[in-house]
Amino acid sequence: MKAAPFAYVRPATLEDAVAELAGSDGGGKVIAGGQSLVPVLAMRLARPETLVDITAVEGLDGLRKLGDNLEISAMVRQRRIEHDRSADSVPLLRMALPWVGHRELRSRGTVCGSLAHADPAAEIPAVATCLNAQLTLTSPAGARQVPAREFFTGAMTTAIGPEDILTAVRFPTMASGEGFGFAEIARRHGDFALAGVAVRVAVSGGRVHEATLTAFGVSDRPVTRDVSAELTSATGAPEHDGVRMAKRLEEPLIGLARDMVDTDGDAHGSQDYRRRLFVTLAGRELVKAHDRAQRSFDEVKL
Ligand SMILES: Cc1cc2nc3c(=O)[nH]c(=O)nc-3n(C[C@H](O)[C@H](O)[C@H](O)COP(=O)(O)OP(=O)(O)OC[C@H]3O[C@@H](n4cnc5c(N)ncnc54)[C@H](O)[C@@H]3O)c2cc1C
Repeated sequence: MKAAPFAYVRPATLEDAVAELAGSDGGGKVIAGGQSLVPVLAMRLARPETLVDITAVEGLDGLRKLGDNLEISAMVRQRRIEHDRSADSVPLLRMALPWVGHRELRSRGTVCGSLAHADPAAEIPAVATCLNAQLTLTSPAGARQVPAREFFTGAMTTAIGPEDILTAVRFPTMASGEGFGFAEIARRHGDFALAGVAVRVAVSGGRVHEATLTAFGVSDRPVTRDVSAELTSATGAPEHDGVRMAKRLEEPLIGLARDMVDTDGDAHGSQDYRRRLFVTLAGRELVKAHDRAQRSFDEVKL
């Protein structure tokens, strides 16, 4: 199939891009890397009247440290984050990126485009939710910040309004005593995940201070829970080697699976199978993240 006819504009400034979108009366759509939108157009799942191409907009290719955050502007391609040294400061994003489709797609696809597309099985939205990244939406009324945990409102649905451009996202950078984990299961590498988890653990003085678990591919959006209590009780026993910890986490995670994994089964895996994947992946990654957090805390102490 071919896309339905549309008008195409390629503004050079953010002001013009915002004006073009606002002027299209709800019929406009932003195009960034085009890796998701072009197939959607070709299948006629969307029929925008105007495409606002933001690839030439000045100032949207910024990648910079901003206090305790890494700010990634709208036209920063996913592949750049894999290689730029400044992105070392957000290890969870680095862990997730190799799982996003294939290298060729990541050379074109943008970090913000993946967030805006909001596929429930996509990796970058899960990382943003786990770290509660801040998203900047710009419209004719000005710029506003939306926390990632409020940004995803349903399957492929977000807080982006018809006149908004997602101009940047800010990911909190790693602090000492933090450790991360990321894993997913897909039928083939590069496919969307059947189930996946992103984990952040913060320790201080040998104790779990915070533990956040985000699951993706298991609901209509990334789902996050504070699992500090579960992790604390799994590490509280006298001997807490990884295998025993994972065993102690199993029961609470089975309970959480019933709450967090609510997607219906499909040809690729039943709901029950996805729940079992979640329990295994979450247990394993919580143990790894805890170990990494402990080591990062100890290194700073030295
Ligand atoms: C074969 C294949 C496999 C893939 N596998 C995966 C995978 O495993 N995991 C994964 O996460 N993704 C996967 N993708 C999607 C890919 O990662 C895309 O790069 C990403 O989802 C969208 O980024 P983009 O810059 O190409 O956005 P586009 O395709 O340009 O846009 C996507 C949507 O976001 C909107 N949008 C984009 N940028 C903005 C903005 N700045 N402000 C407002 N709205 C905006 C567009 O209007 C559109 O609705 C796959 C894609 C293909 C074709």
